Amino acid sequence: MNSKFIKQIQKRRTLAIISHPDAGKTTITEKVLLFGQAIQIAGTVKGRGSNQYAKSDWMEIEKQRGISITTSVMQFPYKGCMINLLDTPGHADFSEDTYRTLTAVDCCLMVIDTAKGVEERTRKLMEVTRLRHTPILTFMNKLDRDIRDPIDILDEIEKELKIACSPITWPVGSGRYFKGVYHLYEDKTYLYQTGKGHTIQKIKSIEGLNNPELEVVLGEDVATQLRQELELIKGASHKFDLNAFLSGQLTPVFFGTALGNFGVDHILDALVTWSPSPTEREAEQRKVFAEEEKLTGFIFKIQANMDPKHRDRIAFMRIVSGSYKKGMKLFQVRTQKELMVSDALTFMAGDRTQAEDSFPGDIIGLHNHGTIQIGDTFTQGETLKFTGIPHFAPELFRQIRLSDPLKQKQLLKGLIQLSEEGAVQIFRPLSNNNMILGAVGALQFDVVVSRLKNEYHVSAVYDVVNICTVCWVSCYEKKEWAEFTKKNENNLALDGGNHLSYLAPTLVNLRMVQERHPKIIFRKIREQ
Ligand code: GDP
Repeated sequence: MNSKFIKQIQKRRTLAIISHPDAGKTTITEKVLLFGQAIQIAGTVKGRGSNQYAKSDWMEIEKQRGISITTSVMQFPYKGCMINLLDTPGHADFSEDTYRTLTAVDCCLMVIDTAKGVEERTRKLMEVTRLRHTPILTFMNKLDRDIRDPIDILDEIEKELKIACSPITWPVGSGRYFKGVYHLYEDKTYLYQTGKGHTIQKIKSIEGLNNPELEVVLGEDVATQLRQELELIKGASHKFDLNAFLSGQLTPVFFGTALGNFGVDHILDALVTWSPSPTEREAEQRKVFAEEEKLTGFIFKIQANMDPKHRDRIAFMRIVSGSYKKGMKLFQVRTQKELMVSDALTFMAGDRTQAEDSFPGDIIGLHNHGTIQIGDTFTQGETLKFTGIPHFAPELFRQIRLSDPLKQKQLLKGLIQLSEEGAVQIFRPLSNNNMILGAVGALQFDVVVSRLKNEYHVSAVYDVVNICTVCWVSCYEKKEWAEFTKKNENNLALDGGNHLSYLAPTLVNLRMVQERHPKIIFRKIREQ
């Protein structure tokens, strides 16, 4: 095997940040990019209320609201590794993209606002990472503010998120009295300086917990308290265990402040030393290993109009094995067609440049004219289908209606394309001609109406619809299936990919049909 190729794989780390809105994901992204030297002065990723927007904020609607709807990809080098950071929208109105992006990474960084603890969105995102036992690094942020007792928060993480915590660093004070962190495995205290957040600082440190210099710098009381706390922590917390981390059972925990750019380098160091480089991935037919020579990959996201100058759609492909070279031919397994790819994109800190060579763990963007779908597998000829790219049952529903009824065809075309992108899901009831949209976040509905207007020139409005939840349905027995579909025709609908689903007006109703038809399988997640 080509050793240069193996080296490239070993260098790759593909990561997403998960957090509740406002915990500090954007700020950490800025600092991480600063370390990657991808941007010189942190502060350009997102400037709420100013004219500067995140490099990843492409769409107009994002700019208006100052949030990231789309998931972007940023690649940067750090200490000999090549890091692919996949941005996940964290606002309350987020989409399935966020969930699906988590299936395309090898590691996640969980950011916790240490004043608040475990919050709702983090809980949800962590559930998704558990589907694939993704390794989790944890950053306890905002130590420069008044925080909750860190021991309480670690307990909360362990109980609520069902993952053991292993503190790697421990804070010395907080808020106005935040002095730094002690590194349990290096036996060093790193000292925090205020007002240096926009730079890569030369951080002062004191070797050894019993070093009298600690008294000089921290004061006697703080030094004594730190020693006492650490005694407790060392006795009561989990030791770091690499295998437990790699199987998603234990998370190393770091403390710091993203705004002060303090502690962020500890996470990056953990990422390059402990997090896995791309390994194998399950396909229906067999396991595919990163080191295989032939290129394989899957599409986890499709996005339109990233750049208003190019009115194209980009399909994001995670490379699983082999390497991509400019001008190569790819085989799209679902359509059994060959695709010549001369202009795939890579994403250097959000800028679009043409990809020359890309390796397992990297994301490339393929120009898409409506032929590529989420979940598609690409190979160099082999018939393979990667599993585990989920479609999540939406949680919110609206009926969409045209202001001008003559444009029904355009509306359907637009909706099908938008649902292929995963922006929204479309359901067509079997018993009438209505069109129902389902989304994970309410903002998606606004996005759809504005895009229908701008891109498909149709004006549409929403009506309230009495649907509370949806499940995809299937059955192994023909007779049961026929009876079920006949009896429940009024609640059945086809989704954008023609999969049958049950639209339930209430949870009670859903429970009742499930009890009445025990042989029917109801699913909240549909895997491709
Ligand atoms: P996101 O919604 O998770 O992307 O959060 P942001 O990175 O936009 O941060 C939300 C707010 O918290 C912003 O006003 C940040 O300046 C602030 N913030 C982020 N990190 C820190 C930190 O370490 N300390 C303090 N005091 N504020 C922070």
